[in-house]
Amino acid sequence: MHIENEVKYDFSDVLIKPKRSYYTSRKEVDLEREFKFKWSEKIWKGVPVAASNMDTVGTIGSANVLSKHNTLTCLHKFHTSEDLQQIPAAVKKNVAITIGVAEGIQKLYEIGEQINDFNFICIDVANGYTEQFSDFIRQVRSEFKEMIIIAGNVCTPEMTEQLILSGADIVKVGIGGGSACITRKVAGVGIPQLSAVIDCSDAAHGIGGMVMSDGGCTCSGDISKAFGANADFVMLGGLLAGHDENSRKVTENENTGEKTVEFYGMASSTALDKYYSNDKGKEYKASEGKLVSIPYKGALEDTLLDLLGGLRSTCTYIGAKKIKDISKCTTFVCVNNQLNNIYK
Ligand code: 5GP
Repeated sequence: MHIENEVKYDFSDVLIKPKRSYYTSRKEVDLEREFKFKWSEKIWKGVPVAASNMDTVGTIGSANVLSKHNTLTCLHKFHTSEDLQQIPAAVKKNVAITIGVAEGIQKLYEIGEQINDFNFICIDVANGYTEQFSDFIRQVRSEFKEMIIIAGNVCTPEMTEQLILSGADIVKVGIGGGSACITRKVAGVGIPQLSAVIDCSDAAHGIGGMVMSDGGCTCSGDISKAFGANADFVMLGGLLAGHDENSRKVTENENTGEKTVEFYGMASSTALDKYYSNDKGKEYKASEGKLVSIPYKGALEDTLLDLLGGLRSTCTYIGAKKIKDISKCTTFVCVNNQLNNIYK
């Protein structure tokens, strides 16, 4: 047994210190960044914020909206190859096709030539620490050399390096911090997200890779903190859920008129029952996600613009002209109390 005594931080443990700034208007801030990747030969330019590959977030409807603002959507993996072929070409370039290890590489072959219209493949597993996962990334990299590969999730620097060396361009960092996640409760496993991003991005950047901070953003300020911690991309689940473009059923409370929708983790019993009811290994799977009812939020575009507005605001407070400059301009201060919650 070992114990590490160094404190690890979450987004709520810090604030970003304001600094002298030349930028008075949010309009002056450039949120787009051009990326060249370690393995893929593609260049991608866009706003490095991504919708999570959850089936209540990363839908084709979400992609159509998010792509208009050059943000990314990791589609959930239950879309069929026929579904993927229906996506307009202009949207495909801002979309990642998601696969898991269990389903294998077959779906990518089924898409055929059209795969080249998509820029990204997202290889997503709950636990990125298995040898089998690294081998699978190696296989996908050797078959799809030009695609930008996002792979995860892990939350430690050594494994970030291993996934990059196996062929990932971008490593998804985050275990246990998601809004619909109960891994920390069920398994007692995880690393607080801000520190995970600081440590993993340092490891990734050292060998030419990138990281996507995944999970734990509760507001636009947290997205800025993830960029401040040196994330290249930030993935959002709950913040982008509950909209017209990704909600199946809106429920209205008869008494209060309050509208809500269901949101659940992809490892919750709700998702397991939906997609894996015939799975032979089901009795060994513990649910590591929850089902919650969240407010219905209307049009996704309004939320996205609010979140991006928050990011612009951070930039003007700290003197960052571009999203890429946020980490250079960030000094975090550790806090005992982050928000005034007197009025909820
Ligand atoms: P959020 O932005 O909602 O805080 O976090 C979204 C992330 O939570 C997802 O991108 C994914 O990595 C993670 N996640 C989604 N569903 C589950 C689940 O059922 N269990 C766990 N442990 N993590 C989940």
